[in-house]
Amino acid sequence: MTTHNLLLLPGDGIGPEVAREVEKILDFLRREGVAGFEVERDLVGGAAIDASGRPVTDETVARAAAADAVLFGSVGGPKWDRVRYELRPEAGLLRLRKDLGLFANLRPAICFPALADSSSLKRDLVEGLDILIVRELTGGVYFGEPKEIVTLESGDKRAVDTQIYTTGEIDRIARVAFDLARKRRNKVSSAEKRNVMKSGVLWHEVVSRVHAADFADVELEHVLADNCAMQLVRRPKQYDVIVTDNLFGDILSDVAAMLTGSLGMLPSASLGAEDPTTGRRAALYEPVHGSAPDIAGQGLANPCAMIGSLAMAMRYSLGLGEIADKLEAAVATVLADGVRTADIARRGANAVGTTEMGDAVLAALRASLR
Ligand code: NAD
Repeated sequence: MTTHNLLLLPGDGIGPEVAREVEKILDFLRREGVAGFEVERDLVGGAAIDASGRPVTDETVARAAAADAVLFGSVGGPKWDRVRYELRPEAGLLRLRKDLGLFANLRPAICFPALADSSSLKRDLVEGLDILIVRELTGGVYFGEPKEIVTLESGDKRAVDTQIYTTGEIDRIARVAFDLARKRRNKVSSAEKRNVMKSGVLWHEVVSRVHAADFADVELEHVLADNCAMQLVRRPKQYDVIVTDNLFGDILSDVAAMLTGSLGMLPSASLGAEDPTTGRRAALYEPVHGSAPDIAGQGLANPCAMIGSLAMAMRYSLGLGEIADKLEAAVATVLADGVRTADIARRGANAVGTTEMGDAVLAALRASLR
């Protein structure tokens, strides 16, 4: 049996609490002989600052680069609010993304039927929703230079951010989106603002070229990013894969997240370029939520986003798609049985804690493997 090397970075706040539930699942799968895992643990974020003065060390980055997949909890919290900006807990995550070249951020928005009433939209609009937002993560306006605030002679200040995209950056993210669409419902919607932005004009041109050259079998539509935001809350099920830049992706993926109910349910993946000889990609999987200081240490956190992140790692990095399907189905079963943490509980109903939720998913997984 292949042994998959995982690096687990629980981080801060509820990170270690939800990471523990994922470790229980990995232990179970290993014990039952379903799959082989070698799991290393390391520090990141505030925990790493406390231990080494840095939010991530060079050694941890090297371990992350060598792993088949990194499972990341969450970082940050009031304890580290006063550390220098460059050394804040979140800088550990940004460094990992940058050093591993994680340019493709995948955020599925799946609405479990049992949770359809937790969405801000009507049940019939979101029930069965399954869309995937592919966001470019290492380019665009968050990184473009110049990026500054200057004081003018008049005394006014002028702030500048710069949106930059190259052909290569757009080409590689478009390929990720088309590849993924082939494994889903075979449709890509590319969102940009070509009506007012040059980067949008180039985005449109390159996505169309990649499509015509190598992915003509996939349906492609272009949509203006503002219209995409509107359509997401009007008729979200029209989408399959949405590919977009860093800024629009940030916003559209948060909109899509709200369609599904709770932050505690949302996993994500960040992928690097495929090595042409080995086919291997650097990859980091993490829940969308943060360290939730308001509930940390109380055993209340919903572990489903972290468990969903493990399922994504199995599917996209470890070649364990069938087990990933079973793990996601186990979460759906538990929800359908009415087992809920406080963030997704029905009003007036009893809520379970992190450990009980993890145990329930494990029991449903065990039953499905019999
Ligand atoms: P947050 O996601 O931590 O929490 C927002 C709200 O959602 C809170 O009320 C929290 O209790 C709730 N929540 C989040 N995850 C939950 C879960 N699994 N189960 C139940 N409830 C859950 O966002 P925030 O409060 O804006 O940020 C808190 C800290 O986390 C900050 O230091 C922030 O910088 C950091 N943060 C880190 C990441 C990351 O590690 N990738 C992402 C976002 C925020």
